[in-house]
Amino acid sequence: MGAVSSVLIVEDERDLLSLLDFNLRQAGFETLLASTAEEALAHVRRRVPDLVVLDLMLPDLPGTEVCRRIKGAERTRNVPVVMLTAKGEEVDRVVGFELGADDYVTKPFSVRELTLRLQAVLRRSTAAPVEAAPERVGPIRLDAEAHRAFVGAEELPLTPLEFRLLSTLMARAGRVQSREQLLADVWEMSPDLETRTVDTHVKRLREKLGEARELLETVRGVGYRLVDPAEKG
Ligand code: CA
Repeated sequence: MGAVSSVLIVEDERDLLSLLDFNLRQAGFETLLASTAEEALAHVRRRVPDLVVLDLMLPDLPGTEVCRRIKGAERTRNVPVVMLTAKGEEVDRVVGFELGADDYVTKPFSVRELTLRLQAVLRRSTAAPVEAAPERVGPIRLDAEAHRAFVGAEELPLTPLEFRLLSTLMARAGRVQSREQLLADVWEMSPDLETRTVDTHVKRLREKLGEARELLETVRGVGYRLVDPAEKG
């Protein structure tokens, strides 16, 4: 990794906050700390971090709301968010993904596992796509260098993960992709991420595609396929 990446850690349990602070600094990150949603949002306003680790149960606002605000602001929508969830917070996790969170880790977790996840998320957000996608599939157009996607003249508000998912589907337009394949290639496979994660993100991507949404087909029991209307005959 070239430049030092900054990570904003949002966690109200003091012991856990210190533990994460210490270990992530050991792993080479620059850390910023917040123990409330308000502090987290104030940090983000001052300076955009490279990554956010976000606890879901905070004393002032739910973590999902913090995620919504980060992903909703033009300036910060590309900042990857990794959520810390407790067992039994399944619903919040799904909500978090729908709001654009990039990954999650369930408590209790090992710091090593979290560190590996963060490094993977950072790689994904800066990495070139898995394979070169065509510039266009039907009305969908990619600007790979700028990491921007359009349908017609409309720019799609995609997160880095959604951009990667879309460009992978475009590179393989016309071919069915299984959930497992997409998990391995787009997410670089977090072993305990369920294939449902793929479904949640595809659903979100499809909503953002607007008039091009019908091109992203569900192939029942198998996975997904982006249809190239030029090849459909
Ligand atoms: Ca908490």
